[in-house]
Amino acid sequence: MPWIVRVRKKFQAAHYLTDYPKEGENEPLHGHTWMVECHFRVKELNKAGIGVDFVEVERFLDEILPDYRCLNDIFNFSPSAENVARYLYGVIKERFPQLVKVVVWETESGGAEYSEE
Ligand SMILES: [Zn+2]
Repeated sequence: MPWIVRVRKKFQAAHYLTDYPKEGENEPLHGHTWMVECHFRVKELNKAGIGVDFVEVERFLDEILPDYRCLNDIFNFSPSAENVARYLYGVIKERFPQLVKVVVWETESGGAEYSEE
């Protein structure tokens, strides 16, 4: 397993956690600059020396990341970093089977990663 290729992308989105701080209550609506980092396990390179093309991944992320949206309008789950990471993992894995991990940073100090490992 010689390479892990990483691609990061930021997006702006608002959210609030449901059932937080306690069941039946919602966190106030607020926004973040979210950061998504995708990790791809690469065993072979093409003739150009590329395992996963950053440009292709970035284009795909531009299509699927919910930029300037309220995550609660899109998802039917409480949009925590953990849940968003699990959701994005599923979507990105379908397009890029080499994906092994998605990390979602909600702030510079708080994030969650989702992988099958
Ligand atoms: Zn938040």
